[in-house]
Amino acid sequence: MTYPKIELHVHLEGTVRPETLLEIARRNGYALPADSVEGVRALYEYRDFAHFIEIFMLTSAALEREDDFRQITVEYAEEAARHGAVYLEAIFALGLWRGLDSDIVFSGVCDGAAEARDRYGIEIRLTPDIARVYSLDEAFQVVRYALKYRDRGVVGVGLGGPEAEHPPEPYAPAFDLARSEGLASVPHAGEHAGPSSIRGALDALGAHRIRHGIRAIDDPELVRELADRRVVLDVCPISNVRTRAVPSLRRHPLPELVAAGVVCSLSTDDPAMFGTDLSTEYAAASELGLEPRSFYEAGLEGALCDEPTRSRLRELGETFDWAVVPSAGVEVP
Ligand SMILES: [Zn+2]
Repeated sequence: MTYPKIELHVHLEGTVRPETLLEIARRNGYALPADSVEGVRALYEYRDFAHFIEIFMLTSAALEREDDFRQITVEYAEEAARHGAVYLEAIFALGLWRGLDSDIVFSGVCDGAAEARDRYGIEIRLTPDIARVYSLDEAFQVVRYALKYRDRGVVGVGLGGPEAEHPPEPYAPAFDLARSEGLASVPHAGEHAGPSSIRGALDALGAHRIRHGIRAIDDPELVRELADRRVVLDVCPISNVRTRAVPSLRRHPLPELVAAGVVCSLSTDDPAMFGTDLSTEYAAASELGLEPRSFYEAGLEGALCDEPTRSRLRELGETFDWAVVPSAGVEVP
C-alpha cells in the first residue's frame, strides 16, 4: 500500500534503470561495458564503496544531452510518485571531469522537475553536488551555477564522493558563498568516514542537514548534539548495506539514532544502482521497528522548500489516515 513519502537524498544518475541506461547510451553512441539488462545489473554488484563510485562515474558518463537529464528526472518522479512520494530533493553531479557543459545539465534537470510537477503533481527541489575530487575552483563553479538556476528550484549545494580521502574542510569557502547567498548546505558525511567527517560538515560547511551521517553512532556526544540541534540525517539503509557501510540491515544504526532523538529521514540514495526503491526502504525500516509516519515528519522538518509548499505537505501528513498503514515490525513481502 502507498502512503505519503518525502525523499531528501536521491542522486538522479543513480535512478536510471538498466533499460533506460541502455537506451540513452545507444542513442549517444556511448560504449557501456554491458549491452543487456542482465549485464547492467551485473555491473551493479559492488565490492566496496570505491568500486561503487567507479561504476557510478562509468554509467553516468552515458548522460550527455539536455534531454537525457530531463528524461531521467521525469522517469524517477514517475517511479517515486508510484511509491507515494509527494516531495523530492534530487542530487546531481555536473560531470566537470568529463567537460560536460553545466548549462546542459541544469537546464535538463530543471525542465524535468517542472514537467514532473505538471504530470505527476510531485514537488522537486534540486541540490547539485560538489564532487570531493573537485578543486576549489570547480566547487565555486558548482555554486555559481546553482545560484544561476535558483529560480528554477535549486535550493542547496551538496558534497559527495569518497569521504575518507577527502574531508570537507577544504570546500568551506565554496559553502560560505552558497550560504551567504541563501542556498542550504547539504553535504554527505559519516557514511564511510567516521564522526570527524560529520563534525567537519557541521563546523566547516555549516551543514543544514547531513546525507547519511550514520557513523555519528560512534560518538555519543555527537549523537546528542545532532539530536539537540535537530540536524536531520537523510538515511538510506539499503545503500549502506550494498556499499558495505554496514555489515547487514539488522545491524544498521538507524533504530539507535532514532531512539537517541536524532531526526532521520528515509531515502533510496541510488535506487537503480542499489536495486531498491522507496517502498523497499520503508519495508526495511519497518523491519527495524520504525514507523513510516516518523519519516514523513522528519522529511518535512528537513525539506528545503518554501513555506506555502511546507504547509501543503504538513496538511497532507496531518490529514492522511496513517492507521491504514501496516505497523512497524510487520514483515513486508
Ligand atoms: Zn548519496
